Amino acid sequence: MKIFYASLIQETNTFCPQKTDLALFERGYVLRGEEIPRHLAGTNTEIGGFLSYFSEHPADLVPAVACWGVACGKVEDAAFAQLSGEILDALEAQLPVDGVLLALHGAMVSESCDDCEGVLLERVRDLVGADVPVVTTLDYHANLTEKMVVQADAMVGFRTYPHVDFAQTGRRAALILDRLLHGMKRPVPIFRKLPLIVPVEAAETGQGVSGEVIAALGHMDRDPDLVSASLFCAQPWLDIEEMGVSLLFYLQPEAPDQKKWKETADALALSIFQQREAFFQTYPSLAEAVGRLPAFRRPVIFVDSGDITTAGGLGDSTETLRALLGCSQQAALSIVSPKAVAQAFSVGLWGEGEITVGGDQDYGYNRDVTVHAKVLALSQDRSQVTGEAFSGVAVNTGRRAHLLVDGHIHVVAAEYASLMYDPQFLRDLGVEPAEMDVIVQKSHKLFRSAYASIAKEIVILDTPGFTDLNIQRLPYARVPRPIYPLDEIVPFE
Ligand SMILES: [Zn+2]
Repeated sequence: MKIFYASLIQETNTFCPQKTDLALFERGYVLRGEEIPRHLAGTNTEIGGFLSYFSEHPADLVPAVACWGVACGKVEDAAFAQLSGEILDALEAQLPVDGVLLALHGAMVSESCDDCEGVLLERVRDLVGADVPVVTTLDYHANLTEKMVVQADAMVGFRTYPHVDFAQTGRRAALILDRLLHGMKRPVPIFRKLPLIVPVEAAETGQGVSGEVIAALGHMDRDPDLVSASLFCAQPWLDIEEMGVSLLFYLQPEAPDQKKWKETADALALSIFQQREAFFQTYPSLAEAVGRLPAFRRPVIFVDSGDITTAGGLGDSTETLRALLGCSQQAALSIVSPKAVAQAFSVGLWGEGEITVGGDQDYGYNRDVTVHAKVLALSQDRSQVTGEAFSGVAVNTGRRAHLLVDGHIHVVAAEYASLMYDPQFLRDLGVEPAEMDVIVQKSHKLFRSAYASIAKEIVILDTPGFTDLNIQRLPYARVPRPIYPLDEIVPFE
């Protein structure tokens, strides 16, 4: 059996004005051909899962292109054309194939296309024809579209948030493809879209409403009539026409009671919608949290929720830095500021001087602040992720500098945003997180596994930015209306 596989993964935040270009993917990874198994076999990635499954169930695997880029603004049309074109050219060159496995995010938007995954799947379908199975993985934050559902034979989503089941999801997709290649008929999709946008904070899979749904899906897995079932919470920073939380079941076509499953999907969708208010919580302001700093157990983690670099924040907000300047606690924070990095390199190691942090672009909350700082470390090296999410991935944030500000704030400044949440990101430059009173994270959840033994408390802050957790504060113009919470009255049955 000849199985073609590829990945094209990026979560787009349409509120972020900085476009995603090819260079952003290259700072993540763009792997071709045999580079793919060489770099991704054994990793906790979706492709790592494909490879793990097929090492136990031998098949002729054809690696094409694997791309991953950190979340940012809309993908430049040229970058999407280039990367999707490489995948399609590689597929065309390999035809005929028996099956196709794709690792996708599900929330990729380009300058001219709201549904990059749907378009890619449509083009893959055009090449392979109706009878070759096409199976994909998707992120829990995918925004499902009709086109994606029509074009793919099956799509399976992560069951964890904070995400840790990348490889496991890859294995589930590989198993479905393998079954399709060995006689299973194309499953029947049951797709339900809810008129609902949810902030990511209260949509964890281990608790709350989303936790209950994920547990229910886990029970359903035991039913042989069901091929797969996923909840897609859709990351909220997408101002596009087909936006909303989704449920997606796949049924065996010969399952005797199709009606029962449709009713199950309807009931689950209704139950989520009826409990919608549980997704909306209030969080302390920066001023409140800083005021209570001496009372927290140390180290406390402050989540700068408006500026999350893994969700489309640019990592350059100076709000927390400015608030901490007035305190005396030992603090560590990572921040994107190419200007500050350049100044630190020109001041030199052990030098001190006035350094301007932030304000490389001005969106208000990231206005620049000039500090007196001592340069304690400089680095041109990549950082290694040690926690469960993206474990082992080498992170390229360009050059970095450790600036000690006012003798108590350790700023790790970087040139580009990426995965900046791991304790190793600080340790590389000589900052020991366990010795801090407060650590600012520009990450929602991904830091948690690596910080489990370090963090004594975690405080989510209501801070501004492109990843604002306050949905009503964001300038949505294109999402379907009515939709909760932008509209109070939303008919849904
Ligand atoms: Zn996600």
